[in-house]
Amino acid sequence: MIHPEVHNTVSLEFSAMARAKSVGGEKLHSLGLGEPFWPAPGAVRQKLSEIALSEHYGYKSPFGNQILRQSIAHDVTAIADARIEAENILVTAGAKQALSVVFKTLLEDGDEAIVVDPCFVSYRPQVFLANHNAKIIPWSLTDDFSIDIEALKALITPRSKVLVVNSPNNPSGGLISAVEMQALVAIAKNHNLYLVCDEIYRDFVYHGATFVSANAYRDIYDQIITIDGFSKTYGMTGWRLGYIVASKEFLQNAVKVVQHEMTNVPEILQVAACEAFNLPDGWFEQYRSVLERNVDHYNNALEDISILKTAPIKAGMFCFPKFDLGDFTSDQVAVKLLHSQNVAVTPGVVFGKDWDSYLRVSLSSPEDEFHDAIEKFATFFRTFL
Ligand code: PMP
Repeated sequence: MIHPEVHNTVSLEFSAMARAKSVGGEKLHSLGLGEPFWPAPGAVRQKLSEIALSEHYGYKSPFGNQILRQSIAHDVTAIADARIEAENILVTAGAKQALSVVFKTLLEDGDEAIVVDPCFVSYRPQVFLANHNAKIIPWSLTDDFSIDIEALKALITPRSKVLVVNSPNNPSGGLISAVEMQALVAIAKNHNLYLVCDEIYRDFVYHGATFVSANAYRDIYDQIITIDGFSKTYGMTGWRLGYIVASKEFLQNAVKVVQHEMTNVPEILQVAACEAFNLPDGWFEQYRSVLERNVDHYNNALEDISILKTAPIKAGMFCFPKFDLGDFTSDQVAVKLLHSQNVAVTPGVVFGKDWDSYLRVSLSSPEDEFHDAIEKFATFFRTFL
């Protein structure tokens, strides 16, 4: 039975409404969903088309393709300066399934998941789908979307089992610093919690900010689990490829979920995805730099609009401005924006009722399209009545 708190992703419904408008022939400026504006790398697609014709793929290991696991382990080792081996990697159908496998492996009746708030819309449903009787304890970020360690400590009870964080954060554009990560690891260690850190936007950092992986602290504390995937950096949302990085012991249990739910992630996709690790160093810079310029453009275009306040955008694919428009809800503002300017954004209420005076704006568009969309977005707020 589906838990009553598991709803459809409203952002998908909203974007369907937006799509209906564009089907009607109108030019739509989409700042709604978290889709990279770039395609999957040519080498990955080329490999897929070659092996589709020449190879046969049957059932395979539920842990994932060994070469892919080795490549991921190598990559994570380089990022986190930690020794990660292929046996620390479990390949999943997207980061979403990685999260679901983690929660299914861990959560018993009555266990509490402390979940960063605001957060990616699937965390809460996934906790309840994993265990109907689990509890969510929302942990609010501060007004500028940084971390309040004391507030976090106050939430922990003997039933707390997992602490779920996301850095860079969707929707806020926040980033966990080294000092904050160290504090989170210490809290997890002292209270015997699993620290689950979703790092899917790890390559999306701006203006010299530094991404810190929870994996860098694996020597201090073994119960660290990170989530990542190919959707964002590699523009491979439709491929559904993600992975978990965790202790070998944890993965021996977690793999049972993949084994019994899907046998294995399609091997043909995994073999093609190995090519992503042969791309030249700095390959992603061409896209990261566009996103960084989009951040600058956003900040410049909106700085004189006092009814809109945006916390510093340090990282990730989104920013999360707060509007001051009296009783207007985020849904009403988003619908008005869509109808009057043909600009689609995600209403903040999607992230919970505390975020009903926010809008999530995606930074992922080619620069010229982003400029057009932000000009209309700014006009909307300048002329809002
Ligand atoms: N985590 C976060 C924070 C996300 O924003 C998303 C996708 N929007 C995911 C996980 C899921 O990614 P995937 O496509 O790999 O399932």
